[in-house]
Amino acid sequence: MKVFVVAEHRMGELNPVSIELLNLANAIKKDSSVAVVLGKDVKGFADELAKFADKVYMVQDDSLENYNPETYTDVLMQIFAKEKPDVVLLPNTSFGIDLGPYLAAKLNAPIATDVVAVDASDGLKVSKYFFQGKLMTDLKLKEADTYVLTVRQGVFKEGEEVNGAVEELDIKPSKPARRQFVQYIEPEVGEVDITQADIVVTVGRGIEDASNIELAEQLAEMLGGVVAGSRPVIDNGWLPKDRQIGISGKTVKPKLYLGLAVSGAFQHVMGMKDSELIIAINKDPEAPIFGVAQYGIVGDIFEVVPALIEELEKIKG
Ligand SMILES: Cc1cc2nc3c(=O)[nH]c(=O)nc-3n(C[C@H](O)[C@H](O)[C@H](O)COP(=O)(O)OP(=O)(O)OC[C@H]3O[C@@H](n4cnc5c(N)ncnc54)[C@H](O)[C@@H]3O)c2cc1C
Repeated sequence: MKVFVVAEHRMGELNPVSIELLNLANAIKKDSSVAVVLGKDVKGFADELAKFADKVYMVQDDSLENYNPETYTDVLMQIFAKEKPDVVLLPNTSFGIDLGPYLAAKLNAPIATDVVAVDASDGLKVSKYFFQGKLMTDLKLKEADTYVLTVRQGVFKEGEEVNGAVEELDIKPSKPARRQFVQYIEPEVGEVDITQADIVVTVGRGIEDASNIELAEQLAEMLGGVVAGSRPVIDNGWLPKDRQIGISGKTVKPKLYLGLAVSGAFQHVMGMKDSELIIAINKDPEAPIFGVAQYGIVGDIFEVVPALIEELEKIKG
């Protein structure tokens, strides 16, 4: 089984989710994991990907500088015509959600989107959530020569280096694209990627007001982490939408999740339950978050957090 990963990069940066997809590829491959990176000047990305792929195909052309579904599909199909992938993995980002169906249609392949688990031991089975996370379903895909999957970010963070080789392919899009790239418009906020942070300090509704977020920021800074929030915190506008953890937000898997006044509702827990270490501070000893936390402090965050900060200051001198 050859598992291909289409790498995503934007504005000069490789999206780390590409490495997560290679971790998955290495876990399910029977033959090899292959990354494909298309762009204008992407040798650096190819070298980075090669650490986690048996093989990296790199195609460099001016016309591939920015993502365009037409040129990407065109070039990828030229590669796939020779290489015959068994599985093609894309991130479940706007890039993968756009490109995945194009490729699936061209390959006449079944596609499953936003998958969170893959089992390739007997055909191809995937797990994904339905009904906004209330139901997790295992699906067996219709038997096919090739499958296309878009994979949720933040799920396959662990993997080992395999150190493969990079090969540059001399391929160009066979015809000019009808659509032209105009410009990137960056969202107003979003400089923090909570899915990539090792330490995530998460505030819940009990933080009470936007002005109290600073307390969490202070703690996060001392720990070298970032601040995220539960849905009410986002709905109240106390933190931007891209900081929300949960089924309608992001999935995180940090080394440490520290929850401050988060109750632990099912919809929130689905986005953080796989964190390596979960610590919760909540004044209600019956709060469901204590059911998933390894360590819990029953107390008022406005007393416990300043005390924690004080202790950390002492330790740091
Ligand atoms: C379709 C759907 C999708 C959803 N998606 C998401 C999602 O993606 N993410 C998400 O988070 N939620 C989501 N929700 C909402 C979810 O059901 C909960 O309402 C939400 O997670 C609760 O957030 P919370 O824990 O911050 O608030 P609450 O449930 O109100 O809990 C606040 C907690 O803070 C504690 N507390 C209060 N003051 C203090 C204090 N001073 N010190 C210590 N503890 C204190 C309280 O004891 C309580 O446990 C979704 C809901 C639906 C229906």
